[in-house]
Amino acid sequence: VRTPERVDARSAILRALAVSGALSRADLVRVTSLAFSTVSALVVELQDEGLVTTPGARPTAEEQPGRGRPPTLLVLHRSAGVVVGVDFGKQHVHAVAADFAHTVLAERRTETEPDLPAQAGVALAAELVDQVLAEADVARAEVLGVGVGLPGPIEGTAAEVGGSSILPGWIGVGASRLLERSFALPVLVDNDANLGALSEWMWGAGRGCANMVFIKAATGIGCGLIVNGEPYRGAQGIAGELGHTPIDRAGPVCRCGKRGCLETLAGTQAVLASLGASDGIDEVVGRCNAGDARVREAIGDAGEAVGSAVAILCNLFNPERVVVGGELGSAGEAFIGPLRHAVARDALGLVSTRLEITASALGDRAVALGAVGLVLRATTQFPARRPLRRLAGNA
Ligand SMILES: [Zn+2]
Repeated sequence: VRTPERVDARSAILRALAVSGALSRADLVRVTSLAFSTVSALVVELQDEGLVTTPGARPTAEEQPGRGRPPTLLVLHRSAGVVVGVDFGKQHVHAVAADFAHTVLAERRTETEPDLPAQAGVALAAELVDQVLAEADVARAEVLGVGVGLPGPIEGTAAEVGGSSILPGWIGVGASRLLERSFALPVLVDNDANLGALSEWMWGAGRGCANMVFIKAATGIGCGLIVNGEPYRGAQGIAGELGHTPIDRAGPVCRCGKRGCLETLAGTQAVLASLGASDGIDEVVGRCNAGDARVREAIGDAGEAVGSAVAILCNLFNPERVVVGGELGSAGEAFIGPLRHAVARDALGLVSTRLEITASALGDRAVALGAVGLVLRATTQFPARRPLRRLAGNA
């Protein structure tokens, strides 16, 4: 019988599986606070409907002697639907299609000219979305939604891109409407660093942390926050604009209109300018990783400057882990070592001694995967395509 309580319990199980990927029955009891008997009965029902299944048989090597059989894990079946994640960067577009078992089905990345206007970028992204869906053999009707990451503050219902975005062609654009029209699918938009935080927290270097910070150190220096086990966006969805921390009142004017922001000292443009480099940041990071001492010094200076700002953030938020990504993060210890040193020097001892500062595990896939996570977490109706639950500050 479909009582309202049973419908709620069913939704709770489906949502728990959508958010977590694979869970045992005991995990479902813990996550949903439902009775074991309720979970068991509903799992049977959902398995009969084909919405819930067990992932492929585990290799026997994982079964440790003396520990008994591991509990059977449950996942949402492919028929529950598919989600897409898209990352717009300064010079790339990246698209991923994944199912509700958290399996990536197809993925494409393409380099673009810098600073494509919004219309051109969206047209390119729509092509990439078509390509990943074709490669994954997914019909559009199976797609529940597309998550999208943009570099800049993302404000309000329209997901308007703020004036300090590093993509000048997107400033003032209401991204939700433009993207929904182009993709002909429901869309959720968030800031790129927020999505990096989400993916590292769900699957990467921030797993298991209730309080963590993700730093995206690239052209802009953004950060995403996980606070008390939830993504934190602030009142308008703008939280985490670390790159606009004022560092030097007499410093150069920043694209945000203020003076001496962290980004003017430690963003990739500043690093390239300090080296007089005519090539791109990827080439420069490549030279750093190959041991070029001069490049290593410049990247270390940027890491130290970011570390001073991260120290302030850590004093205020007291995270257990800071995960560092973006192009500068991909220089590894050359960037993260000096960053760590500056945090240890500038943050309260109590805050820094137990703090772990570590490299991103997901690298240049972090934002696109976070965009997938955004939709996984927002979906409430399976398997039908329904409007996604809007985000706070993006509602
Ligand atoms: Zn600024």
